[in-house]
Amino acid sequence: MLRYQKIGDIVLVKRDLSQEEMEYILNKTRCKTIVKYEGISGDLRKPKIKIIYGSETETIHKEYGCLFKLDVSKVMWSMGNIEERKRMAHISHPREIVVDMFAGIGYFSIPMAKYSKPKKIYGVEINPDAYYYLRENIKLNKLKNVEPILGDNRVLNLENIADRIIMGYILKTRFFLDKAFQLLKEEGGVIHYHDTLPEKALYSEGVYNIMKTAEAYGYKLTYYDIRKIKKYAPGVWHIVIDAKVEGC
Ligand code: SAM
Repeated sequence: MLRYQKIGDIVLVKRDLSQEEMEYILNKTRCKTIVKYEGISGDLRKPKIKIIYGSETETIHKEYGCLFKLDVSKVMWSMGNIEERKRMAHISHPREIVVDMFAGIGYFSIPMAKYSKPKKIYGVEINPDAYYYLRENIKLNKLKNVEPILGDNRVLNLENIADRIIMGYILKTRFFLDKAFQLLKEEGGVIHYHDTLPEKALYSEGVYNIMKTAEAYGYKLTYYDIRKIKKYAPGVWHIVIDAKVEGC
């Protein structure tokens, strides 16, 4: 079966194509480049790709009224997270300070800044390529309320400032919970905690980690909601926990 995704004017496929399949995609999509997506690796989420048609890998993708400039050979884009990007767009409000600890190219920060208009979003990103596109996307979308920060969020020189924290990272998210609680305002706030969990631990493991870390930093978990984002592997889900915590 021929499956493909279009990001801006670039098409991504997951396997090699026959000449016929390539012509079908070119006719149907009018794309400038076709790349074979071979996976994402490392903490910086660098994609591994092979160009199978054309040459340019930079594009501008339009989604939900936002523009995302990116180079598919340098930074990731997850089609499976589209509903979560839309949900994040409307979850904040103009009085809030938000920290997006894993901002990438602005996957969540851009729609949130545009539609919820929080006072400020600090978008922290360690990968210089993703940071470059985060800055580009702030400009493209004419946003004044996103402050991009290049660096490791664990050494971020900010404390007790956030009403809301986005932890859009998987596999190792729990190791960043300490920093999330250091960033949170003393009275508390909301953490959007992403993780990849096996089916049987879906409703226990992530919540337990949040609850324990909250206690260690003098907060209590007062409400949570768990949503499935997409299947990550057989029996494993990418989930997001919305956790409301209050200072004790
Ligand atoms: N949430 C996004 C989506 O919807 O597709 C995906 C974001 S991507 C998985 C996570 C980003 O976090 C990557 O761009 C990576 O470079 C960045 N990152 C990883 N470790 C980091 C750290 N310690 N500090 C700041 N950014 C980090």
